[in-house]
Amino acid sequence: MKKVETKKKDIRALTREQLRDFFVENGDKAFRGNQVYEWLWQRSAHSFDVMTNVSKETRSMLEANFVINHIKVDLMQRSSDGTIKNAVRLHDDLVVESVLIPTKTRTTACVSSQVGCSLDCLFCATSRLKRMRNLNPDEIYDQVVAIDNESRLYFDRPLSNIVFMGMGEPLMNYKNVLSAIDKITSPEGLGMSAKRITVSTSGVPKIIKKMADAGVKFKLAVSLHSAIDEIRTSIMPFNTTFNLTDLREALEYWYNKTKSRITYEYVVWEGINDTQKDARALVDFCRFAPAKVNLIEYNPIDDGAFQQASKKAVEMYVDVLEKNGITVTVRRSRGKDIDAACGQLANKS
Ligand code: SAH
Repeated sequence: MKKVETKKKDIRALTREQLRDFFVENGDKAFRGNQVYEWLWQRSAHSFDVMTNVSKETRSMLEANFVINHIKVDLMQRSSDGTIKNAVRLHDDLVVESVLIPTKTRTTACVSSQVGCSLDCLFCATSRLKRMRNLNPDEIYDQVVAIDNESRLYFDRPLSNIVFMGMGEPLMNYKNVLSAIDKITSPEGLGMSAKRITVSTSGVPKIIKKMADAGVKFKLAVSLHSAIDEIRTSIMPFNTTFNLTDLREALEYWYNKTKSRITYEYVVWEGINDTQKDARALVDFCRFAPAKVNLIEYNPIDDGAFQQASKKAVEMYVDVLEKNGITVTVRRSRGKDIDAACGQLANKS
């Protein structure tokens, strides 16, 4: 006989209040909601069975009404430099990737915010995947928990930092990203400081302003790659919609409200943005507020359309930026051998 499955609700889509109400409506005490909430978030329960401080009957009742759509790490790969990449299976069998990046003093989790990506950066492997859907807050949270566990297991220390630099454009999934960060920073969740979280965006002006208004405490990084509209549009076509004038205006608004320094991510490519003129445009663009520029190494993604610029060109950038009082760092790639570096996340395995 064919089993008829009624669609059960994802219990982690409920707020603490809603969960408390659910118990009251079902003739139980409101505080039962607190107990279950703690199991779901602080203790990352994968099933109702483990909730040993609630009765068997209650657990069965929860089972009958809800599901816990916990992520599953399908495949974990380790790079020769210690970087770990997780292929994460979601409840509907879609897959995203997240990365653990260890240094001497830190462990950073690089998490995904969408399945695929809404944007069209020509140099990024993820942009070739169609955006299938946004991740839910719990799916973002679970990626962080999985990496925190791996950090404790393999590096003997908890996770220290989180960057939203995995698959997807976090500002195109703003509500869920914010809600995940609320859980990550809440004492009811992981209790991490928002200052250790960086949200990276290709630049969606309207949402940058909205975040500034919301008084968020995490850091902002902007994938700039060119401060000249024509060039930026040629490598990041959505720049025709979200152009540099609007982006700059939004960033100025952000800085005035948050007083939080902005980081710019920037790859220097041969024949694209490797001249003095490009470097000076970058200086002009970020002059309005304290800024830091991360010059990221390009991670080739197959077709050879983009080439990392020469060492000399990168040094020229460092020189121009430093002379103008802008902090600059040159970033080496991590996890290249397992396709875990920036722009390489594309579910290849
Ligand atoms: N959508 C967000 C976050 C994901 S990308 C954003 O654009 O910021 C994370 C960073 O990797 C971005 O700075 C992006 O521009 C950069 N990146 C993308 N493809 C890359 C590649 N092939 N090599 C190096 N960096 C890349």
